[in-house]
Amino acid sequence: MDKKIYIYANDTEVSKAIEKTLRSKLVKSGLRPYNTYSDDTELIICIGGDGTLLRLVQEFEFPKTPIVGINTGHLGFFQEILPEKIDDFIFFYNQGKYSIQGLSGVNVTVKTAGGSFRHIALNDITVRGVLTHPVHLNISINDSFIERFSGDGICVSTPAGSTAYNYALGGAIVDPRLSLLQVAPIAPMQNTAYRSFTSSVLLPGSDSLSVIPCGDFDKNLSVVYDGLMTEYKDVKELTIRLSRKKINLIRFDDYQFWEKVKSKFL
Ligand code: NAP
Ligand code: MN
Repeated sequence: MDKKIYIYANDTEVSKAIEKTLRSKLVKSGLRPYNTYSDDTELIICIGGDGTLLRLVQEFEFPKTPIVGINTGHLGFFQEILPEKIDDFIFFYNQGKYSIQGLSGVNVTVKTAGGSFRHIALNDITVRGVLTHPVHLNISINDSFIERFSGDGICVSTPAGSTAYNYALGGAIVDPRLSLLQVAPIAPMQNTAYRSFTSSVLLPGSDSLSVIPCGDFDKNLSVVYDGLMTEYKDVKELTIRLSRKKINLIRFDDYQFWEKVKSKFL
């Protein structure tokens, strides 16, 4: 029986050319690329960079279907295959010689005067002010108050997102086999009026983070999930926790997280 394969690509010239090559190679090896994604799709091939994979995950709302990435972007941390290795990929895929890396998402629930809204992200949820205003946020972990944060905002990342914005903020790189959330401060204010943690903090994957805009200040916030932003007015509370949903990335036998980190960062 046919295996249904769905190809998702960004619209750069390089990606379009790779997609064409890929389609003909798949057909030659007995695999069939389909033009639509459905419940019985067996594999999603994502052509682009990490940004493209993030778009795919948002568009298909955290699909369970295994995903493999061909890197035509700049960094390609999620992307497993180099364009010149497409033949190897098809060979190993047909042989079943690969493993699945499950990566958890992070959920945010935004309660406002106007209702309740939810987003999910693979990398990170960032909470900021609107325009360039600083924010003042009361932060609790499992209902116990931790700090009043003042500054540009906070970035709450999954282990998979630890190498993205979190890393630029001075946060730690986390092996994705760990289940945790990392909260990194963005330009925390340090003076006699305001005092916030200056390092990131880690919470167990089972804990829940509550963020309440401080009463004396603006309650309008920007919530950014994997780079997509929504502005919310009159925010009452944000609740952020690790999602039960995971995406399933295909990794071939030579994949090792720390090798990938070394090759992309050092
Ligand atoms: P983008 O330009 O596609 O992403 C920004 C850069 O981050 C790209 O080089 C991208 O790689 C890389 N990247 C994405 N996810 C990564 C991961 N898990 N590990 C390592 N690198 C990763 O912009 P976008 O589409 O809006 O992406 C949203 C992400 O950008 C957010 O989730 C946030 O983490 C990150 N971001 C970073 C900064 C910063 O570093 N100062 C600021 C804002 C947002 P590719 O080149 O392969 O696409
Ligand atoms: Mn990108």
